[in-house]
Amino acid sequence: MKLLEYEGKDVFAQYDIPMLKRLGLLRLGDSPGGLKLEGQGPWIVKAQVLAGGRGKAGGVKLGRTASETRELAGKMLGMQLVTHQTHGKALSVEEVLVEEACLIDREIYISVVLDRKEAAPMIIASAEGGVSIEELARTHPEKILKVPVDVETGLLEFQARQLAFDLNIPQKNFREFTAFARQLARVFIEQDASLVEVNPLVVTKDGRLLAIDSKIVTDDNALFRHKDQAAKPDHEATEIEKEAKEIGINYIGLDGNIGCMVNGAGLAMATLDTVKLAGGDAANFLDVGGGANVDQITRAFQIILKDPKVKAVLVNIFGGIMKCDNIASGVVEASKKVKINVPLIVRLEGTNVKEGKEILARSGLKLEQADSLWEAAQKAVAAIK
Ligand code: GDP
Ligand code: MN
Repeated sequence: MKLLEYEGKDVFAQYDIPMLKRLGLLRLGDSPGGLKLEGQGPWIVKAQVLAGGRGKAGGVKLGRTASETRELAGKMLGMQLVTHQTHGKALSVEEVLVEEACLIDREIYISVVLDRKEAAPMIIASAEGGVSIEELARTHPEKILKVPVDVETGLLEFQARQLAFDLNIPQKNFREFTAFARQLARVFIEQDASLVEVNPLVVTKDGRLLAIDSKIVTDDNALFRHKDQAAKPDHEATEIEKEAKEIGINYIGLDGNIGCMVNGAGLAMATLDTVKLAGGDAANFLDVGGGANVDQITRAFQIILKDPKVKAVLVNIFGGIMKCDNIASGVVEASKKVKINVPLIVRLEGTNVKEGKEILARSGLKLEQADSLWEAAQKAVAAIK
C-alpha cells in the first residue's frame, strides 16, 4: 500500500525523524480560512496525491503571506494534478498539507529499497537530491551510493558515518544525519516496507537537517502485523477493488474490456497474457481463490460485471482440487443469481471435465465453451468485435 506524504510523515514522527512543522491538513470541503498559520511564514502548501514530481507540476507552492497561503491551499484542493509520474492521467487533490517552509541550502536523496540480489534492504543515496533518481542513475551512476542493511542489526553506526562522509554532510549535522539514516532503516524494517524514500532530505540555510518529503510503500502481505495501517483507506484501490477485498477475492481493475474469472494467480496471469496475444485486452485480473464454490463464483461475476467497460466475460478454471462438474454447477447457479448480459466464454479443464462440459451444455445458458485457453481467448476477442 502506498502512503500519502502526510501519512508517511506520521510514521516518521514515531521515529523522531526531523521534519518541518505541520500547520494543517485540509480535506475536500474544509475552508482554508480555518488554517492556523503560526510564525512569520513563508508556508509551504502541498497536494497530497500518490505521485512524485508534484513540485514541477504545481502541486507544491510557497505562500509568502498568510492570505496568499490560504488562497493557494483553497485553489489546490480539488484541483486535477498531472505530473510526470501519473502516466498522463490526472489525480484529483483531495487533501492538502500545509507546513512551515524553510530556506534550503542543500538537497540530498536517500531511500531504502529491497535489493533482491543482496536479499537485504539497501540504502540508496546521492548528494544530488531533489532531482529524479532514475535520471541520475542513467547519467551519473557513480554518484549513487549503496549501503546494504542487515535486517537483524539495522544500519550500523559505522555504516551511517561512512555514508555521512560520502554525502559530504556538514560537520554540524553529522550526528543528526547518522541518527536519521539509522532510523530510516528501522522504518523500513519495522513497518514491513518495500520502499521508504526521502527526496529531498535537506540542509537548511539555518543549519537544520530535515526530511522535506516522504514516500512509503508497505507490503500488503504484512498488513496483519500493522493494525493501525490496515485500518487506513487504500488510496489507490478503486471502489470495485475495495469491495472485492472485503469478500476475499483477488481483483485488480485493468483498462481493457474482457472480464476474466480465473482460479489461481498464475493461471490468471497466463490468461491475461493469452487474451493480449489473441488481440484483446483484459478488464481485470481476478483470482476467485482456492474454493471456487457457487458463492465465490457468484460474487466474482458480480464484481466483474460492476465494471461498465466489460463487454465479454471469459471464465478459465482448472479443476484440480475442485472438480469441473462442481465448478460447472457453480457457474450455472451463479448465472441464475447474476444477470450476465454480455457474451460468456467458458473454458474448463481438469478433473471431471467431460461431466462439467455436459452440465454447461445442458444448462440452456447462453454461453460458448472452449477446449483450450487459446481458443477461449480468441472467442472472447471475436465476441467483442
Ligand atoms: P515532489 O516534487 O512531489 O517530490 O514534492 P517535494 O515534497 O519533494 O517538493 C518538491 C520541491 O519543492 C523540493 O524538492 C524542494 O525543492 C521544494 N520545497 C519543498 N518544501 C520546501 C520548503 O519548505 N522550502 C523551500 N524553499 N522549498 C521547498
Ligand atoms: Mn519529493
